[in-house]
Amino acid sequence: MLNNQGRPTQPAASHDTGEIFETFTGNKALDLETPLIFEQGVPGRVGVDMAEPKKVKNRLGGLERKGAIGLPDLSEPQVLRHFVRLSRQNYAIDSGFYPLGSCTMKHNPRINEKVARLAGLGDLHPLQPASTVQGALELIDSLAHWLKTITGMPAIAMSPAAGAHGELCGVMAIRAAHEAKGEARQRILVPESAHGTNPATAALCGYKVDAVPARADGRMDLDAFAEKLGPDVAGVMLTNPNTCGLFENDIRKIADMVHEIGGYFYCDGANLNAILGQVRPGDLGVDAMHINLHKTFSTPHGGGGPGAGPVVLSEALAPFAPVPYVRHGENGFELIEHAEGEAEKSFGRMKTFHGQMGMFIRALAYMQSHGSDGLCQIAEDAVLNANYIRVGLNDMLHSPFDGICMHEALFDDSSLKGTEVTTLDLAKAMIDEGFHPMTMYFPLVVHGAMLIEPTESESRQTLDQFIGAMRHLLTRAKEGDVAYFQGAPHFAPRRRLDETGAARKPVLRWTPPEGEGASDEAKLSAAS
Ligand SMILES: *Cc1c(COP(=O)(O)O)cnc(C)c1O
Repeated sequence: MLNNQGRPTQPAASHDTGEIFETFTGNKALDLETPLIFEQGVPGRVGVDMAEPKKVKNRLGGLERKGAIGLPDLSEPQVLRHFVRLSRQNYAIDSGFYPLGSCTMKHNPRINEKVARLAGLGDLHPLQPASTVQGALELIDSLAHWLKTITGMPAIAMSPAAGAHGELCGVMAIRAAHEAKGEARQRILVPESAHGTNPATAALCGYKVDAVPARADGRMDLDAFAEKLGPDVAGVMLTNPNTCGLFENDIRKIADMVHEIGGYFYCDGANLNAILGQVRPGDLGVDAMHINLHKTFSTPHGGGGPGAGPVVLSEALAPFAPVPYVRHGENGFELIEHAEGEAEKSFGRMKTFHGQMGMFIRALAYMQSHGSDGLCQIAEDAVLNANYIRVGLNDMLHSPFDGICMHEALFDDSSLKGTEVTTLDLAKAMIDEGFHPMTMYFPLVVHGAMLIEPTESESRQTLDQFIGAMRHLLTRAKEGDVAYFQGAPHFAPRRRLDETGAARKPVLRWTPPEGEGASDEAKLSAAS
């Protein structure tokens, strides 16, 4: 049945009696249906009344617009309501527990936001002359200093815009270093448990990705690694702690082995949250490592803001770092903008400006408000919380690897065997319990994986509630209530979606119904 907004109705059960109802509008009290913004538009409706613009001479050399570009015409309250309604259908770190493994969805302290909005910082323009933005350049320099100090690395590239972009930066530096020696190495070794961005980065830089298997204890297989090393290996990309939530115990040896054959060690540092202030990657033989400010240093992500992925570099890779970068010169802070002079070996530029300034401010505010003791406690609490969950569930869910984990607890689906309930079903049922599901089916080396990263910012009460919900659902699964799981989520604004269809056949074009709504010109062209 369709509701009056033309969408399939989603009947809901009464809170009191359990009786099933359908409303005329499709709304369910606070849970409001939201039509597409293009369906809401009415030609000629405006939010702000503005005078007709003066005719100006077109200076775009024939690139002028032929007609309207099809934006919906809306009033101000319509726009506000649209986005407020959407935000209420979305799950966020500000609304509940978000234990998404490998993503470090921790609280974003409001002090960071306050500082980032200071007029002297928030109103800067990246094209201002360096002499007018000395404070901002000092801030970048100061953050760079603390990131180098924390990681024990001599150099840093601040401009990469996210973790994956940081990987690209690191591997481009590795490539430039080999090329400077006149070498064209072909292979990069990547463990099977790696985050997908690692092999993708190596391939994008023209390398052949050679996968190294994991050992039964979840670490990289050293013997297989040794066998694959050779003069055509450009380097290894290893995550530490790895995506199984485990510290790679042989990491020093791995670094020595790759250096011995003239290769470089790229460390994926997305999981720095677990080792912050406890161990310095520089002491482990790392040549390049990205730091996700949006994970470890609490800047918003996951739809809440852009990322930032500064990359720390060893002495060997430092000369190849991208421009621009900030330097302290005779006349204060200056920007080295071009790959010439002292930056002549730089592989070039990755980004228009200097990096994600707003994220730099937030990350530095986070560091300074914590101090060194607070930063060390972050890793301690992150690891404690993950192990609290591991121990709270390990009599009902099987851990593929023995012993204490780092910042995330990993389980496989062997305890669900015989129940017909899958990892996916369990995750959907967690939505009904009011939690964002954990990471599912990753890392790939673990069957039906559930990767749970609570982070240090969750209280014991929240962890207990999460553990309680998981135990309740696992009991229900083992009692054979398959129908409940296969119907989940029962209470979300949308039920189970065709996720494969959404990814493979996204609907990018909206055509208004014949004769009503927006004009022909307003038809969205599938520009993408
Ligand atoms: C998040 C993550 C990345 C990628 O970082 P983005 O900022 O999302 O591009 C890479 N590796 C690991 C292990 C990660 O957790």
